[in-house]
Amino acid sequence: MNVKLLFLLTFLLLGFNFLEAQDQYFKKRKEMVNTQLQDRGIRNPATLYAMLNVPRHQFVPQELVEHAYSDGPLPIGYGQTISQPYIVAFMTETLNLRSSDRVLEIGTGSGYQAAVLGKIVDSVYSIEIVEELALASKNRLEKLGFDNVMVKWGDGYHGWPQKAPFDAIMVTAGADSVPQPLLDQLKIGGRMIIPVRTKEHITQLVKVTKKKDKIVTRKLIPVRFVPFTRNN
Ligand code: SAH
Repeated sequence: MNVKLLFLLTFLLLGFNFLEAQDQYFKKRKEMVNTQLQDRGIRNPATLYAMLNVPRHQFVPQELVEHAYSDGPLPIGYGQTISQPYIVAFMTETLNLRSSDRVLEIGTGSGYQAAVLGKIVDSVYSIEIVEELALASKNRLEKLGFDNVMVKWGDGYHGWPQKAPFDAIMVTAGADSVPQPLLDQLKIGGRMIIPVRTKEHITQLVKVTKKKDKIVTRKLIPVRFVPFTRNN
């Protein structure tokens, strides 16, 4: 057989395999959206759209790719985890996002939540305290074309004052209280979602809304999160 033809056939075969694999992942994502999200009450169209279109399997370690669409959190190294898809969707929906919003995330981890936010809003700023994770997720997001998502390495307690104020803030690590710098960097009318540990050692997802003259706090659901750590 002619060499050129052989090359062409190999190329086509590999190409089809690649497309088929992508299609498999899309099917798994569709199932995840139907059974894990819609069946449990997630209704916000932008959230569902983002969860359907962000390739979660690209955000988990190679050896866990087959579990990427399972109904739970997964380890991502350094003792950290990528959250359960339902929790990602629930927190995203709760922020009532608009396409023009600027959003701050604390706890980039794998970059998955930041990517989901990036599909919905104008710009996402995300801070990660573990240097290796910050670097890896920055590269991953760049490679996948999420050019409206900015990642920096640092202690998210201080927020990102140079990019403030934000329409919404999402904290994805369990804190002891709501950090004051984050409240300060929220616009009037801005929303924050944050897991807060109570005295009874239960972690509750809390929604904080900054009104003109007061801060309104509402407890949502109990959750499990890796702890919010500090640099010193
Ligand atoms: N949102 C992530 C999962 C978060 S796991 C994802 O989609 O994959 C929580 C992350 O918060 C961990 O990576 C942890 O290192 C980080 N973290 C904990 N305390 C932090 C802090 N003070 N500032 C920034 N990141 C923090």
